[in-house]
Amino acid sequence: DTLGELEARVSVCRACPRLVAWREDVARDKRASFADQPYWGRPIAGWGAEDPRVLIVGLAPAANGGNRTGRIFTGDRSGDWLFASLHRVGLATQPTSVHAGDGQRLLDARMVAAVRCAPPLNKPTTAERDTCAPWLDAELALVADSVRTVVALGSFGWSAALAAFRRLGWEVPRPAPRFGHGAEAVIGSPGHEVALLGCYHPSQQNTFTGKLTEPMIDEVLGRAAAAARI
Ligand code: SF4
Repeated sequence: DTLGELEARVSVCRACPRLVAWREDVARDKRASFADQPYWGRPIAGWGAEDPRVLIVGLAPAANGGNRTGRIFTGDRSGDWLFASLHRVGLATQPTSVHAGDGQRLLDARMVAAVRCAPPLNKPTTAERDTCAPWLDAELALVADSVRTVVALGSFGWSAALAAFRRLGWEVPRPAPRFGHGAEAVIGSPGHEVALLGCYHPSQQNTFTGKLTEPMIDEVLGRAAAAARI
């Protein structure tokens, strides 16, 4: 597979009945609210550089964000926060990510979701996470060689990244390192050591309450950006 072929294959995946029903129900119900735009309502592929130095691992698309626009972290509040920070640290060309044709580009970075369909309440089940894991594995296998830093957004992304890299054959410390904001673990292999950085997820739950502030997210993404430029 190339990344393009992988993207085409994942976009028609229907392996999780609950998530297929949800993504399509939301698309049907909400399409009228966004009548001037196409509404995606399908799985979300990874997006960004094909040979990324920074890999950002999120949870799953938002019902009216990625599920609507067809691009990860695009058109939702979490994405507003994430892209503003990526722009401040030099990893995105624009401070906003509004729709798939807005000209936004990631610089040396790629984003992937651990689960590729929008789940109700942003909570995939363990079975859904495991069913979707082969898509994450396939994408990592295509892009991992160039990666220097992995940024996991939230504990779900952290665990999913550790598990996926272990399946890829990378050395991952045991017991598994614990997630925290600013946590860092080294994974990879001799000669290709990669820093895994933890960052609180830029969900409204975290940004509205002040659990995640702009200086906090800039600090972690800035570390990733600095490592990418070495
Ligand atoms: Fe397929 Fe993943 Fe969507 Fe499940 S969550 S239907 S495995 S793309």
